[in-house]
Amino acid sequence: MSESRILELRRILDRLSYEYYVLDKPSISDQEYDRLYQELLALEEAFPQYYDANSPTQRVGGSVLEGFDKVAHKRQMLSLGNAFNKEDLMNFDRRIRQEVPHPRYVVELKIDGLAMSLFYRGGRFAQAVTRGDGEVGEDVTNNVKTIRSIPMEIALPGEVEVRGEVFMPKKSFEELNAQRTEHNEELFANPRNAAAGSIRQLDSSIAAKRKLDAFWYYFVNAQEFDIHEHSEALDVLDRLHLKTNPLRRICYSVDEIWKFILEMNEKRSSLSYEIDGMVIKLDHLAAQQQLGSTVKTPRWAIAYKFPAEEVVTRLLNITVTVGRTGRITPNAVLEPVRVAGTTVSAATLHNEDMIKEKDIRIHDMVVVRKAGDIIPEIVRSLPQRRDGTQGIYHFPTVCPVCGSELVRFSDEAAHYCINQDCPARVVESIIHYASKDAMDIMSLGDKTVEQLHSVGLLDSIEDIYCLKHKKEVILELEGFQERSYERLIKGIEESKKKPLENLIFGLGIRQVGSKAGKILAKKYHHIDALMQADEADLTSIKDIGYITAQSIIAFFHEAKNIELIAHLKAYGVRMDSDEEVIRESVFTGKTVVLTGTLQSMGRSEAKALLESFGANVSGSVSKKTDLVIYGAEAGSKLVKAQQLHVALMDEESFLKEVQKR
Ligand code: NAD
Repeated sequence: MSESRILELRRILDRLSYEYYVLDKPSISDQEYDRLYQELLALEEAFPQYYDANSPTQRVGGSVLEGFDKVAHKRQMLSLGNAFNKEDLMNFDRRIRQEVPHPRYVVELKIDGLAMSLFYRGGRFAQAVTRGDGEVGEDVTNNVKTIRSIPMEIALPGEVEVRGEVFMPKKSFEELNAQRTEHNEELFANPRNAAAGSIRQLDSSIAAKRKLDAFWYYFVNAQEFDIHEHSEALDVLDRLHLKTNPLRRICYSVDEIWKFILEMNEKRSSLSYEIDGMVIKLDHLAAQQQLGSTVKTPRWAIAYKFPAEEVVTRLLNITVTVGRTGRITPNAVLEPVRVAGTTVSAATLHNEDMIKEKDIRIHDMVVVRKAGDIIPEIVRSLPQRRDGTQGIYHFPTVCPVCGSELVRFSDEAAHYCINQDCPARVVESIIHYASKDAMDIMSLGDKTVEQLHSVGLLDSIEDIYCLKHKKEVILELEGFQERSYERLIKGIEESKKKPLENLIFGLGIRQVGSKAGKILAKKYHHIDALMQADEADLTSIKDIGYITAQSIIAFFHEAKNIELIAHLKAYGVRMDSDEEVIRESVFTGKTVVLTGTLQSMGRSEAKALLESFGANVSGSVSKKTDLVIYGAEAGSKLVKAQQLHVALMDEESFLKEVQKR
């Protein structure tokens, strides 16, 4: 088990490194990569019998691209060990003190670019080499020459080797991606990849246009010039006009280091270049030599990696949207800001209570982060940065679309527009009905629903099935031609065959999601039976609680909905479920989580298969999970399952079990 996971992680990390270092196109965030890497490191430590010199933990990442001259490094270019919290730094400090009792550290910013080694010979710029695989790099002299801040001459004789980071300033990155958007070219994921891609252009005139810059952080052969401290070496580089980063500090303890880290984390978003952490180095060069290095990293330095990025921006306004259930969602309109690689200009505020609890006011400066690095959210407001222009936000009392009074139910934090005919609700409910997990009418997307609603052709769900009688009117509409009309009607007709579970979900009953739709369809088989169900009957089903039962009963008691079902029946929409025969297996009755990419089938196919065996497929791992089935590139869910000692199954064993049936 551990061996197969180790081999799998090595394979995954190798592929991710190839995407990152060679293609300059990472497919996952650095945080996720670091998590997988740490998992491998921990497994290799626990099972040393699986040691392999070719493991990603034993090699400097990256490789040498064809097209450039290869240069063997005189002195290996290493990577850095990682620290993710103060405790990791304390362990690092403890290890250092065993050899150097009174260490002095230089703490620097960790610039997110690509490592570069420069050679000056006889005071003249001679060569620039990438890190490559640490042993051999690429000669990119001509491209590096185009970086304006690099001096072509320095006032030092002999051979001088300096190393540092070439990076693309945030502004150049924004401009580059804007141009690429205009030319319909693929965008760079982040400034680091843009910088690496630019340096590895065979045509130097392209690199020249990319506005790169560099900071130098290592005078490799400083001791040959009678320099004995790293901090002194940095000052010498400055005097030679080799630009160093001024934000560095001498520290004598982990507390001092930590204080500086916190200060820089605050400052991070206001810098004109990206940083992904801080680097802590022993200052005395002789002590550095005494400690030496492992095959991959020096023992005298460590990189602290920042957690998911938080940035500060201004909240310009709060607007509200009306969902299909009438739920009112407040949204923050933000001054556009870059967070974890993308520009963010909106974030959800959930409900009135959240705005009050976080004391968020219009025009406030707010801290924004991406939850799981994807969905932007407001973490907190910064009352200390108020300047008198802020105003308290008053939650609307009437629906912004139809003007009817909003209602807040006693057991819920959200406000609702309860006008069933509210145009916003009507449009949203039709969009929902046509959505993928409901009736899956691909040809009836959001924009088409809005368009048909605006001309009075779609005022309710049942109107969808009358569109086939409105051909002439539809063909008059912008964007419609014979073919797109045919496609629309074909999609609608096909939706009539969808089983009961899709219909139940599509009706948009409050509290009834796609999972509840399946559970209800399995139990009742026909809409008529579901419409007759009472509270006791509904709550007897595992996973259907009192509130959901009440919501279902209320829905089917409303005349309007009874009429809707009757009309849908008359139009030929299917009202029953596929007869389900549960096949007994090791999955029956188990709560199963799927993670990673399965090679043999898609995620939804695997889910359907497991459900046919009577498994309950859940999206997240918890103590209640019985089994986690994992494919390639499984990440945090797998780690969590291991921590919780949940049973694991790889794809091969999963297929074997399936084939037994
Ligand atoms: P690293 O980025 O963790 O640290 C080493 C590098 O830091 C050095 O080579 C140097 O280039 C740089 N650096 C910046 N400022 C510095 C300073 N002041 N002093 C010294 N060095 C400084 O290690 P790495 O081996 O370059 O890259 C590994 C990292 O790359 C991973 O931890 C991950 O974050 C990222 N990565 C991501 C993916 C992905 O798919 N997203 C894939 C591979 C690697």
